[in-house]
Amino acid sequence: MTRVGIIGGGQLGRMLALAGHDNGISCTTLDPSRGSPAAAVAPAIVGAYDDHERLADLAERSDVVTYEFENVPVEAARSIEQRVPVFPPPAALEASQDRLAEKELFTAVGLPVAAYAPVDSLSSLADALERLGTPAVLKTRRLGYDGKGQAVIHDRLLAEDAWRSVGEVPCLLEALVRFDRELSIVAVRGRDGATAAYPVVENRHRDGILRETRAPAPGLTSAVQETAEAHARSLMAELGYVGVLAIELFQTGGSLLGNEMAPRVHNSGHWTIEGAETSQFENHLRAVCGLPLGATDAVGVSAMVNLIGSMPDRAAVLAVPRAHLHDYGKQARPGRKLGHVTVRADDERTLESRLDGLTVALGTSDAAKIGGGG
Ligand code: AMP
Repeated sequence: MTRVGIIGGGQLGRMLALAGHDNGISCTTLDPSRGSPAAAVAPAIVGAYDDHERLADLAERSDVVTYEFENVPVEAARSIEQRVPVFPPPAALEASQDRLAEKELFTAVGLPVAAYAPVDSLSSLADALERLGTPAVLKTRRLGYDGKGQAVIHDRLLAEDAWRSVGEVPCLLEALVRFDRELSIVAVRGRDGATAAYPVVENRHRDGILRETRAPAPGLTSAVQETAEAHARSLMAELGYVGVLAIELFQTGGSLLGNEMAPRVHNSGHWTIEGAETSQFENHLRAVCGLPLGATDAVGVSAMVNLIGSMPDRAAVLAVPRAHLHDYGKQARPGRKLGHVTVRADDERTLESRLDGLTVALGTSDAAKIGGGG
Protein backbone atom coordinates (compact mmCIF):
# COMPACT_ATOMS: atom_id res chain seq x y z
CA MET A 1 0.00 0.00 0.00
CA THR A 2 1.41 3.38 -1.02
CA ARG A 3 0.05 6.47 0.70
CA VAL A 4 -0.35 9.58 -1.43
CA GLY A 5 -1.13 12.97 0.07
CA ILE A 6 -2.99 15.37 -2.20
CA ILE A 7 -3.01 19.11 -1.59
CA GLY A 8 -6.50 20.13 -2.68
CA GLY A 9 -9.75 18.22 -2.38
CA GLY A 10 -11.69 19.32 -5.46
CA GLN A 11 -12.95 17.06 -8.22
CA LEU A 12 -9.42 16.37 -9.43
CA GLY A 13 -8.43 15.15 -5.96
CA ARG A 14 -11.60 13.08 -5.87
CA MET A 15 -10.90 11.40 -9.22
CA LEU A 16 -7.28 10.79 -8.18
CA ALA A 17 -8.44 9.15 -4.95
CA LEU A 18 -10.96 7.00 -6.82
CA ALA A 19 -8.28 5.86 -9.28
CA GLY A 20 -5.90 5.11 -6.41
CA HIS A 21 -8.44 2.98 -4.63
CA ASP A 22 -8.42 0.38 -7.42
CA ASN A 23 -4.64 0.26 -7.49
CA GLY A 24 -4.00 -0.20 -3.78
CA ILE A 25 -2.93 3.42 -3.43
CA SER A 26 -4.60 5.22 -0.57
CA CYS A 27 -5.01 8.98 -0.87
CA THR A 28 -5.49 11.59 1.85
CA THR A 29 -6.43 15.12 0.84
CA LEU A 30 -5.89 18.52 2.44
CA ASP A 31 -8.55 21.13 1.72
CA PRO A 32 -9.90 24.11 3.66
CA SER A 33 -13.54 23.10 3.22
CA ARG A 34 -15.12 20.31 5.23
CA GLY A 35 -17.43 19.06 2.47
CA SER A 36 -14.89 18.99 -0.37
CA PRO A 37 -15.63 16.65 -3.32
CA ALA A 38 -12.67 14.42 -2.37
CA ALA A 39 -13.72 14.18 1.28
CA ALA A 40 -16.67 12.03 0.20
CA VAL A 41 -14.36 9.29 -1.12
CA ALA A 42 -11.09 9.52 0.85
CA PRO A 43 -9.77 10.60 4.25
CA ALA A 44 -9.50 14.38 4.34
CA ILE A 45 -7.58 16.81 6.51
CA VAL A 46 -9.42 20.12 6.84
CA GLY A 47 -7.04 23.07 6.88
CA ALA A 48 -5.58 25.98 4.98
CA TYR A 49 -2.91 25.31 2.35
CA ASP A 50 -0.42 27.38 4.31
CA ASP A 51 -1.22 25.86 7.71
CA HIS A 52 2.11 24.29 8.64
CA GLU A 53 0.61 21.95 11.22
CA ARG A 54 -1.87 20.55 8.73
CA LEU A 55 0.81 20.29 6.06
CA ALA A 56 3.01 18.37 8.52
CA ASP A 57 0.04 16.12 9.30
CA LEU A 58 -0.42 15.43 5.58
CA ALA A 59 3.31 14.64 5.18
CA GLU A 60 3.14 12.34 8.20
CA ARG A 61 0.32 10.36 6.61
CA SER A 62 1.94 10.14 3.16
CA ASP A 63 4.81 8.39 1.37
CA VAL A 64 4.65 10.99 -1.40
CA VAL A 65 2.70 14.22 -1.78
CA THR A 66 1.16 15.70 -4.92
CA TYR A 67 -1.32 18.51 -5.61
CA GLU A 68 -4.40 19.01 -7.73
CA PHE A 69 -4.37 22.73 -8.46
CA GLU A 70 -1.56 25.08 -9.40
CA ASN A 71 -2.17 27.84 -6.92
CA VAL A 72 -0.77 25.79 -4.03
CA PRO A 73 1.67 28.10 -2.19
CA VAL A 74 5.16 27.14 -3.40
CA GLU A 75 6.47 27.47 0.19
CA ALA A 76 3.92 24.88 1.32
CA ALA A 77 5.17 22.42 -1.31
CA ARG A 78 8.78 23.14 -0.39
CA SER A 79 8.12 22.71 3.33
CA ILE A 80 6.57 19.29 2.73
CA GLU A 81 9.51 18.38 0.52
CA GLN A 82 11.72 18.50 3.65
CA ARG A 83 9.84 15.42 4.88
CA VAL A 84 8.57 13.44 1.87
CA PRO A 85 9.00 13.73 -1.90
CA VAL A 86 6.66 16.19 -3.62
CA PHE A 87 5.76 15.56 -7.26
CA PRO A 88 5.43 17.33 -9.67
CA PRO A 89 8.51 19.23 -8.44
CA PRO A 90 7.73 22.59 -6.81
CA ALA A 91 9.79 24.28 -9.57
CA ALA A 92 7.00 23.32 -12.00
CA LEU A 93 4.44 24.79 -9.65
CA GLU A 94 6.47 27.98 -9.41
CA ALA A 95 6.76 28.38 -13.20
CA SER A 96 3.06 27.74 -13.74
CA GLN A 97 2.09 30.43 -11.22
CA ASP A 98 3.78 33.23 -13.13
CA ARG A 99 2.85 33.73 -16.77
CA LEU A 100 6.17 35.46 -17.45
CA ALA A 101 8.25 32.60 -16.00
CA GLU A 102 6.05 30.16 -17.91
CA LYS A 103 6.57 31.94 -21.24
CA GLU A 104 10.34 32.09 -20.60
CA LEU A 105 10.37 28.38 -19.81
CA PHE A 106 8.42 27.53 -22.99
CA THR A 107 10.81 29.65 -25.02
CA ALA A 108 13.86 28.04 -23.37
CA VAL A 109 12.72 24.57 -24.43
CA GLY A 110 11.81 25.64 -27.96
CA LEU A 111 8.01 25.79 -27.60
CA PRO A 112 6.95 28.90 -29.56
CA VAL A 113 4.61 31.37 -27.85
CA ALA A 114 2.62 34.44 -28.96
CA ALA A 115 4.63 37.68 -28.97
CA TYR A 116 4.55 39.06 -25.42
CA ALA A 117 5.92 41.79 -23.20
CA PRO A 118 5.94 42.17 -19.41
CA VAL A 119 3.88 45.12 -18.15
CA ASP A 120 4.10 46.68 -14.69
CA SER A 121 2.71 50.17 -15.18
CA LEU A 122 0.44 52.12 -17.48
CA SER A 123 3.45 53.57 -19.29
CA SER A 124 5.01 50.14 -19.85
CA LEU A 125 1.61 49.00 -21.17
CA ALA A 126 1.70 51.88 -23.66
CA ASP A 127 5.22 50.81 -24.74
CA ALA A 128 4.15 47.17 -25.04
CA LEU A 129 1.14 48.15 -27.16
CA GLU A 130 3.42 50.19 -29.35
CA ARG A 131 5.59 47.14 -29.91
CA LEU A 132 2.92 44.39 -30.21
CA GLY A 133 0.09 46.42 -31.75
CA THR A 134 -3.61 45.63 -31.29
CA PRO A 135 -5.58 43.54 -30.73
CA ALA A 136 -3.70 42.25 -27.73
CA VAL A 137 -4.63 40.61 -24.47
CA LEU A 138 -3.52 41.88 -21.08
CA LYS A 139 -3.21 39.09 -18.50
CA THR A 140 -2.28 39.26 -14.84
CA ARG A 141 0.99 37.39 -14.26
CA ARG A 142 -0.37 35.59 -11.20
CA LEU A 143 -3.56 33.91 -10.07
CA GLY A 144 -5.31 33.99 -13.38
CA TYR A 145 -7.14 30.98 -14.75
CA ASP A 146 -10.13 30.17 -16.94
CA GLY A 147 -9.94 33.59 -18.56
CA LYS A 148 -10.06 35.55 -15.29
CA GLY A 149 -7.75 38.54 -14.83
CA GLN A 150 -7.68 39.26 -18.57
CA ALA A 151 -8.68 42.13 -20.83
CA VAL A 152 -8.57 42.24 -24.61
CA ILE A 153 -7.37 45.60 -25.93
CA HIS A 154 -8.66 46.49 -29.38
CA ASP A 155 -7.72 50.13 -29.27
CA ARG A 156 -4.66 51.73 -27.67
CA LEU A 157 -6.85 54.52 -26.37
CA LEU A 158 -8.55 51.99 -24.11
CA ALA A 159 -5.31 50.83 -22.49
CA GLU A 160 -6.07 52.61 -19.22
CA ASP A 161 -9.48 50.90 -18.88
CA ALA A 162 -7.82 47.53 -19.41
CA TRP A 163 -5.05 48.31 -16.90
CA ARG A 164 -7.69 49.26 -14.29
CA SER A 165 -9.88 46.25 -15.04
CA VAL A 166 -7.10 43.76 -14.30
CA GLY A 167 -6.32 45.53 -11.02
CA GLU A 168 -3.12 47.40 -11.93
CA VAL A 169 -0.94 44.44 -10.99
CA PRO A 170 2.08 42.97 -12.82
CA CYS A 171 0.87 41.67 -16.16
CA LEU A 172 1.87 40.26 -19.49
CA LEU A 173 0.66 41.72 -22.76
CA GLU A 174 0.23 39.11 -25.48
CA ALA A 175 -0.55 39.49 -29.16
CA LEU A 176 -4.04 38.14 -29.79
CA VAL A 177 -3.62 34.93 -31.75
CA ARG A 178 -6.04 34.24 -34.58
CA PHE A 179 -5.91 30.51 -33.97
CA ASP A 180 -7.94 27.88 -35.82
CA ARG A 181 -8.61 25.96 -32.65
CA GLU A 182 -7.40 25.26 -29.12
CA LEU A 183 -5.66 21.99 -28.39
CA SER A 184 -4.00 20.44 -25.39
CA ILE A 185 -1.66 17.60 -24.72
CA VAL A 186 -1.61 15.62 -21.50
CA ALA A 187 1.68 13.82 -20.93
CA VAL A 188 3.21 11.95 -18.03
CA ARG A 189 6.73 11.28 -16.77
CA GLY A 190 7.67 8.63 -14.22
CA ARG A 191 10.25 8.78 -11.46
CA ASP A 192 12.59 6.77 -13.71
CA GLY A 193 12.26 9.37 -16.52
CA ALA A 194 9.99 7.21 -18.70
CA THR A 195 7.39 9.29 -20.56
CA ALA A 196 4.07 8.77 -22.30
CA ALA A 197 1.57 11.11 -23.93
CA TYR A 198 -2.13 10.94 -24.69
CA PRO A 199 -3.48 11.89 -28.11
CA VAL A 200 -3.76 15.66 -28.59
CA VAL A 201 -7.31 16.83 -27.94
CA GLU A 202 -9.42 19.77 -29.11
CA ASN A 203 -10.93 22.04 -26.45
CA ARG A 204 -13.92 24.31 -26.92
CA HIS A 205 -14.39 27.14 -24.43
CA ARG A 206 -17.20 29.56 -23.72
CA ASP A 207 -16.93 32.54 -21.36
CA GLY A 208 -13.38 31.45 -20.60
CA ILE A 209 -14.48 28.05 -19.27
CA LEU A 210 -13.78 24.70 -20.93
CA ARG A 211 -17.07 23.28 -22.20
CA GLU A 212 -16.12 20.37 -24.37
CA THR A 213 -13.12 18.24 -25.27
CA ARG A 214 -12.86 16.04 -28.36
CA ALA A 215 -10.38 13.20 -28.12
CA PRO A 216 -8.42 12.71 -30.25
CA ALA A 217 -8.73 16.17 -31.82
CA PRO A 218 -10.73 15.70 -35.04
CA GLY A 219 -8.41 15.59 -38.05
CA LEU A 220 -5.32 15.32 -35.83
CA THR A 221 -2.23 14.78 -37.96
CA SER A 222 0.75 12.73 -36.85
CA ALA A 223 2.92 15.83 -37.37
CA VAL A 224 0.91 17.84 -34.81
CA GLN A 225 0.88 14.91 -32.38
CA GLU A 226 4.63 14.44 -32.70
CA THR A 227 5.36 18.15 -32.32
CA ALA A 228 3.16 18.49 -29.24
CA GLU A 229 4.67 15.36 -27.72
CA ALA A 230 8.22 16.57 -28.37
CA HIS A 231 7.44 19.88 -26.63
CA ALA A 232 5.91 18.07 -23.66
CA ARG A 233 8.93 15.78 -23.34
CA SER A 234 11.39 18.71 -23.50
CA LEU A 235 9.45 20.63 -20.88
CA MET A 236 9.25 17.62 -18.56
CA ALA A 237 12.96 16.85 -19.00
CA GLU A 238 13.88 20.47 -18.28
CA LEU A 239 11.85 20.44 -15.05
CA GLY A 240 12.91 16.94 -13.92
CA TYR A 241 9.18 16.42 -13.94
CA VAL A 242 7.25 13.57 -12.34
CA GLY A 243 3.50 13.18 -12.83
CA VAL A 244 0.94 14.36 -15.36
CA LEU A 245 1.52 17.66 -17.17
CA ALA A 246 -1.01 19.41 -19.42
CA ILE A 247 -0.03 21.99 -22.03
CA GLU A 248 -2.63 24.20 -23.67
CA LEU A 249 -1.85 25.06 -27.28
CA PHE A 250 -3.17 27.25 -30.07
CA GLN A 251 -3.21 25.65 -33.51
CA THR A 252 -2.99 27.81 -36.62
CA GLY A 253 -2.60 25.73 -39.76
CA GLY A 254 0.17 23.26 -39.00
CA SER A 255 1.80 25.40 -36.34
CA LEU A 256 1.43 25.28 -32.59
CA LEU A 257 1.92 27.99 -29.96
CA GLY A 258 2.12 27.25 -26.25
CA ASN A 259 -0.45 29.14 -24.15
CA GLU A 260 -0.06 27.76 -20.66
CA MET A 261 0.71 24.62 -18.70
CA ALA A 262 -0.86 22.92 -15.71
CA PRO A 263 1.44 20.78 -13.54
CA ARG A 264 -1.38 18.42 -12.61
CA VAL A 265 -4.17 16.29 -13.97
CA HIS A 266 -6.32 18.45 -16.23
CA ASN A 267 -9.94 18.94 -17.23
CA SER A 268 -9.02 18.24 -20.86
CA GLY A 269 -7.83 14.79 -19.73
CA HIS A 270 -11.07 13.66 -18.05
CA TRP A 271 -12.08 11.71 -21.16
CA THR A 272 -9.21 9.30 -20.42
CA ILE A 273 -11.22 7.66 -17.61
CA GLU A 274 -13.30 5.77 -20.16
CA GLY A 275 -11.66 6.84 -23.42
CA ALA A 276 -8.07 5.70 -22.91
CA GLU A 277 -6.33 2.51 -21.93
CA THR A 278 -5.14 4.09 -18.66
CA SER A 279 -6.69 7.23 -17.19
CA GLN A 280 -4.68 10.38 -16.50
CA PHE A 281 -5.53 9.94 -12.81
CA GLU A 282 -4.14 6.41 -12.65
CA ASN A 283 -1.06 7.43 -14.63
CA HIS A 284 -0.42 10.43 -12.37
CA LEU A 285 -0.52 8.16 -9.32
CA ARG A 286 1.63 5.53 -11.03
CA ALA A 287 4.17 8.23 -11.87
CA VAL A 288 4.40 9.83 -8.42
CA CYS A 289 4.53 6.39 -6.75
CA GLY A 290 7.40 5.23 -8.99
CA LEU A 291 5.30 2.55 -10.71
CA PRO A 292 5.45 1.71 -14.44
CA LEU A 293 3.29 4.02 -16.58
CA GLY A 294 0.17 2.65 -18.26
CA ALA A 295 -0.57 2.78 -22.00
CA THR A 296 -2.06 6.08 -23.14
CA ASP A 297 -3.80 4.94 -26.35
CA ALA A 298 -7.32 6.17 -27.00
CA VAL A 299 -10.03 3.53 -27.11
CA GLY A 300 -12.10 4.77 -30.06
CA VAL A 301 -13.13 8.43 -30.02
CA SER A 302 -14.54 10.40 -27.09
CA ALA A 303 -16.18 13.69 -26.25
CA MET A 304 -16.15 15.12 -22.74
CA VAL A 305 -18.78 17.71 -21.87
CA ASN A 306 -18.50 19.72 -18.65
CA LEU A 307 -21.65 20.13 -16.56
CA ILE A 308 -21.57 23.75 -15.45
CA GLY A 309 -23.96 25.56 -13.12
CA SER A 310 -26.61 22.85 -12.84
CA MET A 311 -26.85 19.08 -13.09
CA PRO A 312 -29.00 17.50 -15.80
CA ASP A 313 -31.49 14.68 -15.37
CA ARG A 314 -29.37 11.62 -14.54
CA ALA A 315 -31.59 9.05 -16.28
CA ALA A 316 -31.78 11.10 -19.48
CA VAL A 317 -27.96 11.34 -19.68
CA LEU A 318 -27.45 7.67 -18.92
CA ALA A 319 -29.94 6.72 -21.64
CA VAL A 320 -27.46 8.04 -24.24
CA PRO A 321 -25.46 5.06 -25.51
CA ARG A 322 -21.95 4.92 -24.04
CA ALA A 323 -22.44 8.05 -21.98
CA HIS A 324 -20.67 8.09 -18.62
CA LEU A 325 -21.82 10.56 -15.99
CA HIS A 326 -19.49 11.96 -13.34
CA ASP A 327 -21.09 13.91 -10.51
CA TYR A 328 -18.56 15.68 -8.28
CA GLY A 329 -21.08 16.04 -5.44
CA LYS A 330 -20.80 19.83 -5.38
CA GLN A 331 -23.41 22.45 -4.53
CA ALA A 332 -24.84 23.99 -7.69
CA ARG A 333 -23.70 27.56 -8.37
CA PRO A 334 -23.67 29.54 -11.64
CA GLY A 335 -20.43 28.97 -13.54
CA ARG A 336 -19.31 26.12 -11.27
CA LYS A 337 -18.05 22.82 -12.72
CA LEU A 338 -20.35 20.26 -11.10
CA GLY A 339 -19.59 17.19 -13.17
CA HIS A 340 -18.89 15.95 -16.66
CA VAL A 341 -20.15 13.44 -19.18
CA THR A 342 -17.90 11.41 -21.45
CA VAL A 343 -19.43 9.83 -24.53
CA ARG A 344 -17.51 7.20 -26.46
CA ALA A 345 -17.90 5.74 -29.95
CA ASP A 346 -15.91 3.75 -32.47
CA ASP A 347 -16.05 6.50 -35.11
CA GLU A 348 -16.67 10.25 -35.37
CA ARG A 349 -20.07 9.94 -37.06
CA THR A 350 -21.50 7.75 -34.36
CA LEU A 351 -20.01 10.07 -31.76
CA GLU A 352 -21.76 13.07 -33.36
CA SER A 353 -25.12 11.32 -33.31
CA ARG A 354 -24.65 10.33 -29.66
CA LEU A 355 -23.75 13.94 -28.85
CA ASP A 356 -26.98 15.04 -30.50
CA GLY A 357 -28.74 12.70 -28.09
CA LEU A 358 -26.74 14.15 -25.21
CA THR A 359 -27.73 17.71 -26.18
CA VAL A 360 -31.37 16.69 -25.85
CA ALA A 361 -30.68 14.90 -22.57
CA LEU A 362 -28.97 17.96 -21.12
CA GLY A 363 -32.17 19.88 -21.81
CA THR A 364 -32.10 23.44 -20.65
CA SER A 365 -29.00 23.12 -18.47
CA ASP A 366 -26.08 25.36 -19.27
CA ALA A 367 -24.06 22.44 -20.60
CA ALA A 368 -26.71 21.86 -23.27
CA LYS A 369 -25.03 24.34 -25.58
CA ILE A 370 -22.36 21.83 -26.54
CA GLY A 371 -20.57 22.30 -29.81
CA GLY A 372 -20.93 26.07 -29.40
CA GLY A 373 -17.18 26.59 -29.51
CA GLY A 374 -15.99 30.05 -28.57
P1 AMP B 1 -5.66 31.50 -20.43
O1 AMP B 1 -6.10 31.93 -19.07
O2 AMP B 1 -4.31 32.01 -20.80
O3 AMP B 1 -5.78 30.02 -20.62
O4 AMP B 1 -6.69 32.12 -21.47
C1 AMP B 1 -8.06 31.76 -21.47
C2 AMP B 1 -8.57 31.71 -22.88
O5 AMP B 1 -8.43 33.01 -23.50
C3 AMP B 1 -7.81 30.76 -23.80
O6 AMP B 1 -8.30 29.45 -23.67
C4 AMP B 1 -8.08 31.38 -25.15
O7 AMP B 1 -9.37 31.02 -25.61
C5 AMP B 1 -8.07 32.87 -24.88
N1 AMP B 1 -6.73 33.43 -25.07
C6 AMP B 1 -5.74 33.52 -24.15
N2 AMP B 1 -4.62 34.06 -24.66
C7 AMP B 1 -4.90 34.35 -25.95
C8 AMP B 1 -4.14 34.92 -27.02
N3 AMP B 1 -2.89 35.36 -26.87
N4 AMP B 1 -4.75 35.03 -28.22
C9 AMP B 1 -6.03 34.62 -28.41
N5 AMP B 1 -6.79 34.08 -27.44
C10 AMP B 1 -6.24 33.94 -26.23
